[in-house]
Amino acid sequence: MIERPLSPETRDENLTQMADRDRPLDLLVIGGGITGVGIARDAAHRGLRVGLVERRDFASGTSSRSSKLIHGGVRYLQLGDFGLVRESAAERSVLGHIAPHLAHPTLMVIPAHSRRAHLALNVGLWTYEKLGSIDANELHTMWDREETLARMPLLRPERLYGAATHYESITDDARLVLDTLKDAHTAGALVANYAEVTELHVERNRVGGARVRNMITGSDCDIEASVVVNAAGPWVDAVRSLEGPLPPKRLHLTKGVHLILPRTCLPVDHIVVFTAGDQRSVFVVPRGEVIYTGTTDTDYGGPADRPEITAEDADYLLTAIDRAFVTPGVGPEMIVSAWAGLRPLLHEEGKAPSEISRKDEIMVGHKGLVSIAGGKLTTYRRMAERVVDLAVESLDRSQGVHGQIAVCQTDKLPLAGGDCSREGLQALESRLGERYPEIPPATIARVVAKYGTQSETLLDPIADSPDFGEPVATGTALLRAEVRYAIEHEMALTLEDVLDRRTQLLLFSLDQGLGAVDGVAEMLAERLGWNTSHTESETATYRALAESLLPGKIKQEPAENGRAAKSKAAPRSRSTR
Ligand code: FAD
Repeated sequence: MIERPLSPETRDENLTQMADRDRPLDLLVIGGGITGVGIARDAAHRGLRVGLVERRDFASGTSSRSSKLIHGGVRYLQLGDFGLVRESAAERSVLGHIAPHLAHPTLMVIPAHSRRAHLALNVGLWTYEKLGSIDANELHTMWDREETLARMPLLRPERLYGAATHYESITDDARLVLDTLKDAHTAGALVANYAEVTELHVERNRVGGARVRNMITGSDCDIEASVVVNAAGPWVDAVRSLEGPLPPKRLHLTKGVHLILPRTCLPVDHIVVFTAGDQRSVFVVPRGEVIYTGTTDTDYGGPADRPEITAEDADYLLTAIDRAFVTPGVGPEMIVSAWAGLRPLLHEEGKAPSEISRKDEIMVGHKGLVSIAGGKLTTYRRMAERVVDLAVESLDRSQGVHGQIAVCQTDKLPLAGGDCSREGLQALESRLGERYPEIPPATIARVVAKYGTQSETLLDPIADSPDFGEPVATGTALLRAEVRYAIEHEMALTLEDVLDRRTQLLLFSLDQGLGAVDGVAEMLAERLGWNTSHTESETATYRALAESLLPGKIKQEPAENGRAAKSKAAPRSRSTR
């Protein structure tokens, strides 16, 4: 067990240790999204010497741009993917136990517009519950029209027959990555962000390591490993191409956009699923002072870094809200922010984006590079188990480790912050409220919901320096202690690392975290030794990022009836949805 925190110094030490030629790794993982960190965690708990490198920040790819739902996979029933339904439902339950602070069960309401649809939902959810062994206290219920309208008065009454309701869990995808990563680190994994694999080492026709560029210093190092796993998400093919020409089985990237709107413009308390104009299911999720709605699902062929959000994407989602809810004028001018993520799916000839299976697939290259693509946030732990099983088989063939490696145990071990029940978290919140009466109760509640049992360590420094109990700037609730924690315990190295992935202010605060920028920059500058010009450039980069998430084009174009003119002129082709 490793006690040292995940600080900037630990990052440097980890890179040095990974590059130690006298102690090559058993396993090198490329990519610090949920897939990669899940693999590193599983491998570390089995006692393997594992390293993980991430070219930007942990969770900076798809894993901070998902719909943030740990879901049982009811939707996959329609695709006949029963295995995936079973696995997703089981994993939703596992996550509720190993990370109760990151899996908040929430009612999902699915309106039905005919007796037939109502019946089909009832049968579908019954089948799902049987397949997924759903807990008795989470079984679905059916509402008739009267009850649906009484509980959800904002739904359009026209053609409404009733609704089905069941439970899914809301998560925080980037924090799920971080808390998985931190548990991997505690179990002995060597991890580093801002470390990009630029070449693979091939010896005797086998991949046996990689050249890694330290993106902070610009220096290169060589890391040797018996097995190299490519968990690079949308960049899986780019990494596979370092091994040689790509085989026929390729990635098929599809883009999913979400919009964030103030909660006041659609004050729902449940997740609501409804259909867009092309009959695809979309949803709205309540989250603090905002709601988010998503998602689109369109083919994507552009660069994988920061896919852009178009007026057409926004129009598709806003029109869907209009079809489902009585909302006086939800228009593009209300968008607080937006995000786009890329699904790293495996191409299936002739299938539209929504029809391509979400199942994961492991591919072993001709020189032994193990690549994993597809899959879900929800099922990441099982994906990791399959990859590590394969790595252990390979180690057994090369080094005869049979019987010396522990079996997977990640379903029983808590993630960082998850060593507590839901009731325990409530007790912790009360205890911390009493210990820190100067901190607003809402802030304590937010900290506990986000960090679980790690909240104690996060707030500890306040005892010696009460300053840490203060907000980082007036008008923001972000505590200086949270920023300190992000730097000292979660390897945050940039403003974006703190304000996006570690605290979610970029996406979920009405001001995109801009009110906290200067205060956070000052703390980072002091700790990381930034000079004035570096601090200014960091601040400008963050402001530009926040600006880029506002679908500004919509605002600039003359609107017709509250919708972007361009979108009306260029309707979306149904086949791409
Ligand atoms: P990523 O998170 O993209 O991680 C790959 C990492 O590899 C990146 O951080 C990248 O920087 C790094 N990398 C790339 N090249 C290199 C290199 N050369 N060296 C080092 N590092 C490198 N799943 C759910 O269960 N629930 C949902 O609600 C859900 N909603 C979704 C909504 C959308 C719009 C999308 C797109 C996906 C959704 N998913 C959902 C699926 C889920 O988000 C993805 O399956 C998952 O996040 C993929 O994680 P990953 O680690 O494979 O990829």
